[in-house]
Amino acid sequence: MDFRNYIRDVVDFPNKGITFKDITPLLNNAEALRKANQTLFDKLEGQHIDKVVGVDSRGFIFAPLLASKLNAGFVPVRKKGKLPYKTYSESYSLEYGNDTLEIHIDAIQKGEKVLIHDDVLATGGTAAAVCKLVERLGGEIVQCNFLIELSFLNGKDKIGDYPIKSLLQY
Ligand code: AMP
Repeated sequence: MDFRNYIRDVVDFPNKGITFKDITPLLNNAEALRKANQTLFDKLEGQHIDKVVGVDSRGFIFAPLLASKLNAGFVPVRKKGKLPYKTYSESYSLEYGNDTLEIHIDAIQKGEKVLIHDDVLATGGTAAAVCKLVERLGGEIVQCNFLIELSFLNGKDKIGDYPIKSLLQY
C-alpha cells in the first residue's frame, strides 16, 4: 500500500509558508489505518517495549494502538498545563513557534524500554524534547517512530543516536 495516497498537503496551514501534512485521510480509511499501525509495529522487529510515549496531540492516535499491539503501557506527553499530576517539563522550538512539553514524573520507571511516537518529524525540536523527558525519568529509548519524516528539515540530527523509523519520507 502506498501511504502517500492518504496524506493531504494543506498549503499555508497553520501559518503562511508551512505545508501541513494532514493525516486524516489515512485515519479515515479502514485499511490504511490498520496497515499503517501494522507497518509501524513491524519496524520494531520484535523488540520488547514497556511504554509507548505519544506526543500531544496527533501522536495520541497511533501511540495507544501500538501500545496495545505491543502489550505495553501508553504515556501521554502533553503541552504545558494539561497534565493534572506532578510533571517534568522541557521547552523547545518547532517548525512554527515555541512550546513546552510535560510528562508525569511517575510515567516511566528507570530502565523501562520506551518507544516514542509522533505523526510528523519536522525540525526535530519536539522529538528531542520528548527524548530528554524520557531520559530524565531513566527510560531507555528503543526507537522513535513517525508516520511522516520531512527529511529536508534534518530533524534526525537533533535526536542523536536513537533509531528513527517512519512510514513516509518527503
Ligand atoms: P518539529 O518539532 O519541528 O519536529 O515538529 C514536529 C511537531 O509539529 C509534530 O508534533 C507535528 O505534529 C507538528 N508538525 C510540524 N510540522 C508539521 C507539518 N508540516 N505538518 C503536520 N504537522 C507538523
